[in-house]
Amino acid sequence: MDIIVEKLVKTYGPQKAVDDISFKVNTGEVLGFLGPNGAGKTTTMKAITTFLIPDSGNIYIGNYSVGTNPEEVKQNIGYLPENNPLYEDMPVIDYLKFVGELQGITKEKITDSLLSVIDTCGLEAEKHKKISELSKGYKQRVGLAQALIHNPEVLILDEPTTGLDPNQIVEIRDLIRKIGREKTVILSSHILAEVEATCDRIMIINKGKIVADGTNVELRKQAHGNDIIKVRIEDNDTNSIYEALSNMENVNMVDIIDAKKNRFQIDSAPNSNIAASIFSLCVEKKWVLTELIPVETKLEDIFKEVTK
Ligand code: ATP
Repeated sequence: MDIIVEKLVKTYGPQKAVDDISFKVNTGEVLGFLGPNGAGKTTTMKAITTFLIPDSGNIYIGNYSVGTNPEEVKQNIGYLPENNPLYEDMPVIDYLKFVGELQGITKEKITDSLLSVIDTCGLEAEKHKKISELSKGYKQRVGLAQALIHNPEVLILDEPTTGLDPNQIVEIRDLIRKIGREKTVILSSHILAEVEATCDRIMIINKGKIVADGTNVELRKQAHGNDIIKVRIEDNDTNSIYEALSNMENVNMVDIIDAKKNRFQIDSAPNSNIAASIFSLCVEKKWVLTELIPVETKLEDIFKEVTK
């Protein structure tokens, strides 16, 4: 099922938490929702999941409107809210059964639903433990299991790995990737590497507005028009090399990274194929080129650029 958000606005007093945003998430896509604190991620997710009524705008889950068909929307959405609220005194299996019943799963089907989410979320060994006795990573698995119990087509996960240790993060990420093969997922996160590793597409929101949207590769292209290349040239005359590189056509800037090793960073106009020109220059000058490495713009840099 697709998620369609049209001209969504939500204000708190004078503040626009979400400021007229529109986007679509296609069936089977995993969208990473990034943004600094207070950007409007949770507000958007709450509006999609019917937990919050927006001031204006439309949201559709498949053909169902969040405003006019909230029950149908809820049946098709699984939601893991920020901070993963759980009934800690309940054993895992009882809690999941309870949530399943709230979701309207019939008595005949509940056992199959429980078995399925316990298996998917790797909870078999912990299913009889009280939730309060579980590690944080396993509590997060229970949070995911409750979001999945009614086998929804759409999953909304608000910072699903916050507070987990690196091993737990990897486990939950793998789990989300596995789930993402079959479902439409929106996942918010502060961890850029996580979004890069888990999501097909990245959307960055800042002060309630979408400031970047695309695949990893597309964002890199949009954010940094220039091509950056690192080179190392084996010759004694650093100054001559620096000068020759700086005077090349399409070169905007040359930085000396390491004067002893003659390593330079060259910032050039986009699509100017500077690597070929550097190679020709070295041949002409009889310099030995021992490194030529294109530098990728990091998602971190893109994030900083669009949210500053
Ligand atoms: P974080 O990454 O810190 O969780 P976020 O991107 O999820 O942030 P939101 O929780 O959506 O951001 O908040 C967006 C803005 O709306 C913030 O400035 C927040 O203070 C404000 N806000 C959210 N909920 C309320 C509320 N119930 N009353 C008043 N202001 C609110």
